[in-house]
Formats: sequence, C-alpha cells, structure tokens
Amino acid sequence: MAGSVVERQLRAALIASAGGYLRNPVWRSQVTCRICATPVDGYPCCYECNQHRVHRGLADAVAPVTYAVRGSQSGYIMRGYKAPRRLEAHYSVVATLMIFALLKHARCSEAVANAEVTHWTSVPSLPAKPGEHPFHHIVKDHAPGVEAPLRAADRATDKRAVNADHFVMEKALPSGSHVLLLDDTWAKGGHAQSAALALRRAGAQKVSVLVAARWINPGYKDNGAFIKTLPDYEPDICPWTGSDCP
Ligand SMILES: [Zn+2]
Ligand SMILES: [Zn+2]
Repeated sequence: MAGSVVERQLRAALIASAGGYLRNPVWRSQVTCRICATPVDGYPCCYECNQHRVHRGLADAVAPVTYAVRGSQSGYIMRGYKAPRRLEAHYSVVATLMIFALLKHARCSEAVANAEVTHWTSVPSLPAKPGEHPFHHIVKDHAPGVEAPLRAADRATDKRAVNADHFVMEKALPSGSHVLLLDDTWAKGGHAQSAALALRRAGAQKVSVLVAARWINPGYKDNGAFIKTLPDYEPDICPWTGSDCP
C-alpha cells in the first residue's frame, strides 16, 4: 500500500531530517535482545530483561522505533525534545518519528498480538510532574483506540525497579482489552514494564509497547561497533519485526 499523502510527506520529512543518524531496530536471535532489541553477546535476552522475567504480566511485545545512542545526535534529540527549554528541531524529529510510526505501525501490533488495539496510554513521568508531558502531547491525537489514563503513584520506592505499584489506572479495563503502551525511551525497561503490570492489574489482556527509542550506551561492550554497522533509517521498516509489516 502506498499510504496516504500525509504518510508520504512525514516519511520524506523524516528521511531528510534524521534518516542519516537514526537506525531501525534489529531483531536477530542472540545478536539483539528478543525483548528490547539491545545488542547481546550470544544470549536470548539482555541482563535487565532477563531479571524482569520473575514478574508475571510483562509486556507481550516491545517495538522500539529507533535506537538512541548516548552522546550522538539520536541521543540528543531524545533529551532535547523534552528539555525545560526544548529544542524545536529535536521536538520536530521526535514528533515526526512517532506520528509516522503510529500511522504506519501501531496497527501492526494487532497482527503480532492477534488482537485489535482497544486502548492506548503513555507512560507517565515518575515521580509525577505538573503539566502535560511533551510525549503525551505528540501521541494523543494519533494513537489508536481509547485512552486508558495511567498516572504515577504518589509514592514509588526505587523507581527504576519493575513494580505494578508505581502506576495507577483509576478505571478497570473491559475484558479482552489490548493496550498499546507508548513511551519515549526504553533504557532498562523498568518504567514500561511497571506500567504494563499496572495495566494487567486493571484488566488488560494484551499489552504491546511502542517506544520511540531504545537507549544505547555505545561504550558498553561492542555496542558502538554494532551501531556502526547499521544502515540509515528507513521509516517503512516495521519496528515490531525489523523487516516487513506482519
Ligand atoms: Zn532486553
Ligand atoms: Zn509495521
């Protein structure tokens, strides 16, 4: 399918502004974590995702739209777009990246999960911050389904840990709900997985996570070399598969 005019314009804008430094996620057994797509050393998943496995109700699938590499342009945009004095050029790239991903690939999660997306939500700041998060502002008019508002709990001990108590869903979700959980950055995955557990507690049957960027430390093991091997960003490549849409 050629896609809508808007889709084609967003795609062209994304390639022109950021195609040279963004990278598509790689899903390759024992080369990248099968949960979060970070490089691994011959293991099925990374250290953090392996640690999270003691929890029941983690996300069914995680799709990073791109990698954000610390100390490089892709890392700067993920910080700059939400800085107190935000950089408009960075905001524009993140907005284009997410709006295109939602238009083109949000529904791909339905094929992966074998369930229609009924709700969406975005991971709140932890602890809560006043005002609307810039990421929520970007995604709210483009995400499929009904918003399932999640809020940060009033108290969260060890906020990086995976804990359903870190977030609160005020209303129960109807049975059979499939929630598309949106977040800007996946570093160790604690925030998104805690939010996934809170959604399960509220009744979600399926939770699919679409994140703008999987954070990469290029100084860790062979991460720098891994990133260097990747081709320029192609927005049509599906973040859920690393190749064609399912
Ligand atoms: Zn992982
Ligand atoms: Zn897709």
